[in-house]
Amino acid sequence: MTATRTADREAARRSVQGLSLGDAFGERWFPLFREPARAAREIRDRVVPTEAEWHWTDDTAMALAVLRVLVEHGTIEQDRLAACFALTYDADQARGYGHGMHMLLPPLLTAPGDWRTLAPTLFEGGSLGNGAAMRVAPLGAWFSADLDLVVEQARLSAEVTHAHPEGIAGAVAVAVAAALSVRGGLGLAEVAARTPAGAVHDGLLKAADVPLDTAPWRAADLLGNGQRIRADDTVPFAVWTAVRHADDLVAALWATAEGLGDVDTTCAITGGIVGAATGVEGVPAAWLRRRESPGASWA
Ligand SMILES: [Mg+2]
Repeated sequence: MTATRTADREAARRSVQGLSLGDAFGERWFPLFREPARAAREIRDRVVPTEAEWHWTDDTAMALAVLRVLVEHGTIEQDRLAACFALTYDADQARGYGHGMHMLLPPLLTAPGDWRTLAPTLFEGGSLGNGAAMRVAPLGAWFSADLDLVVEQARLSAEVTHAHPEGIAGAVAVAVAAALSVRGGLGLAEVAARTPAGAVHDGLLKAADVPLDTAPWRAADLLGNGQRIRADDTVPFAVWTAVRHADDLVAALWATAEGLGDVDTTCAITGGIVGAATGVEGVPAAWLRRRESPGASWA
């Protein structure tokens, strides 16, 4: 089938490596681990976190579930994806899942097909949060040879948990960005051109007008940093930093961290996009030793 023929597993592998590194690195800057003034200072001074273990969170857990379905089926089978999300959640609930997923995922363990009725009732009209965007970059890398397929499969992957059009648009934008990263043509206007009309799309166009020599914390002020836990408050800034450092994963993650906010998720998004092109081979050994590996379970 077409979906199988176009699969770029190697790009997807690179992307999930970048995504999980960003997730684990970004998590280090949360107030739980560092009070905000210290986090801002250490990010500015590029002080690498010295904790022995940087654990990844729900962003990586869900990305691995998406990849598991692609490996099994070559395409997004939505009921299977719902089951994999529920299984992943059930195996380790302490990965920092948002409120909506704590409500949605347990019932899907025994009745995966119920996502069709349950997801649209989350938050009155479906979730417009970051959950579908934060996990989707490896899917964009996987289908990068066919951008129409990227858009279609990203939408299918999002709908299982995020019924709101903005939640879906966030996923489409990040998947397209990852695909363009693999193809070597990543740009904000190019991502916006494939993103459905709405707030995420408009945020991407706004980001396209923010010069790349702008300080990242200032860009986050203009574009959002995920603090509002909405896709349109998260995706434009994370794609902007990816464009700013399209060939340097470490520089991209520092720039994204400067925005603080929902920093594990913004770094997971940026890491998945840039990593799809670069992989993690150029990342310092001190980082790779500390970060929790996403494992090879999906390969
Ligand atoms: Mg997280």
